[in-house]
Amino acid sequence: MITGPSGVGKGTLIRSLVQQVPELEVSVSATTRPPRPGEADGVDYHFLSPAEFDARLADGDFVEHATYSGHRYGTLRSELESRVQAGAPVVLEIEIQGARQVRESMPEAVQVFIAPPSLEALRARLVGRGTNSPRDMDARLRTAREEMAARDEFAHVVVNDRLERAVAELVTIVRSAL
Ligand code: 5GP
Repeated sequence: MITGPSGVGKGTLIRSLVQQVPELEVSVSATTRPPRPGEADGVDYHFLSPAEFDARLADGDFVEHATYSGHRYGTLRSELESRVQAGAPVVLEIEIQGARQVRESMPEAVQVFIAPPSLEALRARLVGRGTNSPRDMDARLRTAREEMAARDEFAHVVVNDRLERAVAELVTIVRSAL
């Protein structure tokens, strides 16, 4: 599983990782957040209403779930189970609270924390992405400060200073675990 603050570049790193380690499959999370322009249901996320999310939670459909910046996110059991049973390695991109739950329930999972070179760099990235409202961005930065404190909990920490270098480090970690 890949965790780290929002805006640190987890998505970009994972796309490059999967290109280099094609046997990896990426779990599609569920969220109650509205789709951003260009995001497709079932591809980027399974977009659920809060009521649908609650119903699936009550049915025990989630491996982990968390509230992040006012919206809910979770990993569906259905995304994981068949692949894990078939021995296929699955990548989860999740925030810290979810990562902690996965660490408890699946201690064998490879745990990687992606860290920004600095909080300033993270702010610049979030601004550059331009997909969050100023209020949401402030909340994400506040959360990011707290999330940074969690880095030492994770077995591997990759600093996303330069994309190519960070991807190479991530590929090495993943390959040695497979
Ligand atoms: P975003 O709204 O930017 O797509 O995601 C916000 C945060 O939620 C990111 O840190 C992202 O990694 C995290 N996230 C995405 N999917 C999941 C999930 O299934 N579970 C948890 N716990 N966090 C998720």
